[in-house]
Amino acid sequence: MKITDINGTTKLNNGVDMPVLGLGVYKAKEGREVVDSIQHALEAGYRHIDTASFYENERGVGEAIRTSGVPREEIFITTKVWNDDQGYEQTLAAFDNSLKELNMNYVDLYLIHWPVPGKYLETWKALEKLYKEGRVKAIGVSNFLQHHLIDVVENSDVVPAVVQNEFHPRLVQQPLLDFCKKNNIQYESWSPLMRGGVFKIDTLKDLAEKYKKSVAQLIIRWNLQKGVVTIPKSVHRERIFENADVFDFKISEEDMCKINALDREERTGAHPDDFMDHFENN
Ligand code: NAD
Repeated sequence: MKITDINGTTKLNNGVDMPVLGLGVYKAKEGREVVDSIQHALEAGYRHIDTASFYENERGVGEAIRTSGVPREEIFITTKVWNDDQGYEQTLAAFDNSLKELNMNYVDLYLIHWPVPGKYLETWKALEKLYKEGRVKAIGVSNFLQHHLIDVVENSDVVPAVVQNEFHPRLVQQPLLDFCKKNNIQYESWSPLMRGGVFKIDTLKDLAEKYKKSVAQLIIRWNLQKGVVTIPKSVHRERIFENADVFDFKISEEDMCKINALDREERTGAHPDDFMDHFENN
């Protein structure tokens, strides 16, 4: 993984280069808000945007990119198939719909959003088809634990290129990271800032002060030094720029360990083995 500047990339297991830092757009409102935030991000040098059909802002993502003046092929776009759309035929239809919303003819990375029990293997078969047809450059999964990953690997032709999971100093899951590294699956973090939770942790405030950076910058840098691709979310121009300014310092090994030691197996989102009710009740 190259983490020298914002153009740094990691080579996925199929040879595709994925930018190590991207903009997450969960809860960025469709229309002006998502369009503006992507325009700020592109100006700050980001070339990687993470959306999902569930976020209901794919149309704005596409519009922002088309009107930005940055060529489409220079930007890495991830979208995801939602739980209600899983199964083979439904996934193919959901993908067509995402492309239509984005107004694009391919996406860079298509992910299974959650491992819907009894369905995710069929969903994966649809992703394999899309990949083989060249309509997606890479395929992967999200919210998958080691047992889900083993299930996919043992029952299909294509090893996921990426797993996008909740990851921050309160939820490290080092054995899962090690498993992914060993199997050449790129780990990517969602909610790297713990949806704001990291700003309340004193150890992080002290360390940020030591490096003369903000807590957000410290944690984004910690992700990258751990070999984790990260997609912090903000719709504010200054924060989008701030979150990209992480290439002029290095966290020492000792301080990396201090951050790792904050792990409490604490989640902000649902558990991958028990999430169906979570979304039904939301
Ligand atoms: P996050 O951890 O990135 O936190 C975002 C919040 O942190 C923002 O709302 C903002 O209030 C704050 N923030 C951001 N930069 C800041 C700064 N510099 N200073 C102060 N505050 C700052 O949370 P997230 O949005 O949940 O996660 C990031 C992205 O991950 C999402 O936008 C989405 O793309 C993806 N995601 C994926 C899944 C999944 O199931 N695959 C789930 C959640 C999120």
